[in-house]
Amino acid sequence: MHQDLEALLALQADDEVIDRLDAKLRALGPRLSELERRRKAVAEQLATAESTTEADEHKRRDLEGRLSDHKQRQERNLAHLDSVKRMREATAAMAQVEQARKILIEEESELQAITRRISDGHKSIAAHRDALASEDSEQAAERDALAAERAGIETELADARAKRAQTATHVPKAILAKYDRIRGRRGEQAIFALRGPSCGHCDTAIPLQRRNQMIGTGQIEVCEACGVLLYATQ
Ligand SMILES: [Zn+2]
Repeated sequence: MHQDLEALLALQADDEVIDRLDAKLRALGPRLSELERRRKAVAEQLATAESTTEADEHKRRDLEGRLSDHKQRQERNLAHLDSVKRMREATAAMAQVEQARKILIEEESELQAITRRISDGHKSIAAHRDALASEDSEQAAERDALAAERAGIETELADARAKRAQTATHVPKAILAKYDRIRGRRGEQAIFALRGPSCGHCDTAIPLQRRNQMIGTGQIEVCEACGVLLYATQ
């Protein structure tokens, strides 16, 4: 085999190793995203529980303020009722007391409901915090494994790239430039053996004269149909 061709095929083999390692590295991405997606889901549930309970606590403070005002007002209503002498005034004062009493009952029951909701909210927050903590500790091992895998692949890649650079020094510059351009454009295999009388990639027939020249000299040619590099195996 012609020595340029031999060097180019060795380069292609090196590139295939690099491509496989690159693909392995890319495959780690979705695994990390999946871990992040899971953690985010748990963290969002916690955040929702926290903000709901915070809003309820705010409502409770408002309600407590209103309730305290209404209790004071009712004390005044009762004092007023005690002091009235005339029947007509007493009827009006009693209606006022009764109305205020209804409001106080409603507010007291609303306060109880909110207080129950807040207490449930705190339980829910604690549960979501536990869930997040256990998600984190479950993920720690997976994340370590992923990081170790990534580091391993990166070391292999560095070695493979160094080897490729070494192999490339044996390929003539003009051929290397063509090869790199084709690979860069297509991102895949750049050099093919003839398959019978045709291009091994696109099956377009190569004229007999060119084919004979390739066989005779071991020359590397470009397929005019698909642009890959071609070589004759005999
Ligand atoms: Zn072709």
